[in-house]
Amino acid sequence: MELQFRAENAHAIAYGEKTILVAAKSMSLFVLDPVSEAILLYVQTHPRLTLDQLTQELAGRFSPADVAETVQEFLNLHVFITAQPIPHPISPLINIEHFPLGSLVLNVANKCNLHCTYCYEPEAAKYGPSPVQMDWDMAKASVDFLFQRAGKNREVNLIFFGGEALLNFQLMRKVVAYAEEQGQECGKKVDFSLTTNGTLLTDEIVDFFQEHHFGVTLSIDGPKDLHDKRRSFLTKHGERKGSYDLLLPRVQRLLQRYTARPIVARVTVTKGTVEIARIYEHLSGLGFFEVGFSPVTAKNGEEYGLEPADLRQVLAGFKELGQLYVERALHSQYTGFSNLSTLLTDIHAGTNKLFPCGAGLGLLDVDGNGDIYLCHRFPGTEEHKYGNVKEGLQYDRLNEFLNSAHVENKPVCQTCWIRGICGGGCYHEAYTQFGDGALPNLHYCDFLREWTEYGIGVYMELQEKNPGFVETYVLRGRGDAPKELT
Ligand code: SF4
Ligand code: SF4
Repeated sequence: MELQFRAENAHAIAYGEKTILVAAKSMSLFVLDPVSEAILLYVQTHPRLTLDQLTQELAGRFSPADVAETVQEFLNLHVFITAQPIPHPISPLINIEHFPLGSLVLNVANKCNLHCTYCYEPEAAKYGPSPVQMDWDMAKASVDFLFQRAGKNREVNLIFFGGEALLNFQLMRKVVAYAEEQGQECGKKVDFSLTTNGTLLTDEIVDFFQEHHFGVTLSIDGPKDLHDKRRSFLTKHGERKGSYDLLLPRVQRLLQRYTARPIVARVTVTKGTVEIARIYEHLSGLGFFEVGFSPVTAKNGEEYGLEPADLRQVLAGFKELGQLYVERALHSQYTGFSNLSTLLTDIHAGTNKLFPCGAGLGLLDVDGNGDIYLCHRFPGTEEHKYGNVKEGLQYDRLNEFLNSAHVENKPVCQTCWIRGICGGGCYHEAYTQFGDGALPNLHYCDFLREWTEYGIGVYMELQEKNPGFVETYVLRGRGDAPKELT
């Protein structure tokens, strides 16, 4: 039998004395036995071979039956193939026309009371002379759009976003009442969530969240010295004033008063604010259930952008915090480091993504004009506007984009062993960096591969030393903590 080794489908990771094989086509993990290890070693230098050749090479160490059985397992995993692969289909790989909508992000306000230096929203939209706040007519049309497109989904998600969403809190109240009414009429549960900068929180707002079981994500970048570096107000005199002092009592009040669901802190990591462990200690000390870190999206040359050396520091910080996570997990204690929990969840599930996220598939964004975008980061970007809630969704254009962004249409991703976990990289990151949302996030690939390899090591250790931990504390223990919008 003619065999071809497919290196892109077989990534080996050393784990103590053992070797783990990541079979990338199915994102499944295997501890290699001696015969598998010997075969994989041999094919590094002999990627094209026959079964007879392999059997002879390993004769004396392994029986022909053992070699043949292992080769068959590798064939099942696409680590070996027997014939030239059929060229990949270019397009279309999917048709989204009948794909049900599960989540709608409502940009209820595009204004913001903060002037964070790294914000990805266009300045003109946020602070220009005529910023567009969503009005009731458009909000109602958006909720109707969600229900019309929800298909058989038994639950739909409405996600409030800005600018700063709480600048339009009165509209949020009306939207929630209307969506609950519509949900009842068509027998669908509606889940509400929002991301907020927290500076406008009041007891009245917190109680409203409590009543409607909101998933709350708060944008905060750590202790005062780090947070104030880039999350600031702009005074009348054009000076920057950090927002931490105003935010802190509001956050404390929120964490004390809001008990309906776990609250998540979302940290944007920028140049000069890469102290991951210190940020985590501070925010978990305040009482956040989980802390999620997002490396900032920045065009080349931005002062806050992360250069390769900064990314190394972020990774070192992730691993330092990961060490604490493991130590505590071995005593059945959960550490709310959401980047690692999400990775462990994906590894455990054998997640095999074709896209990086649900943007354009089960999730869409609507801005104050009713215009529909891929996700919350795209409002104002004409290229990624796909219709209007009153005029309908432009399926053809959206389909075309998603097919071009499908991981099987990204040649570089096809040779990457973490493609099933990464899915080809965030569209907005690619759009900002390269002007094309369908390109892979090449500047983050090494970071992601090393982080995934680390996560697999953590997963193996936890499965070996505290086998129930991932299911009990990571899958079930996170409960209904809101999933962050990145
Ligand atoms: S974007 Fe990079 S890390 Fe992600 S699948 Fe493609 S090559 Fe791999
Ligand atoms: S990963 Fe990127 S494209 Fe996807 S929802 Fe998040 S910001 Fe949008």
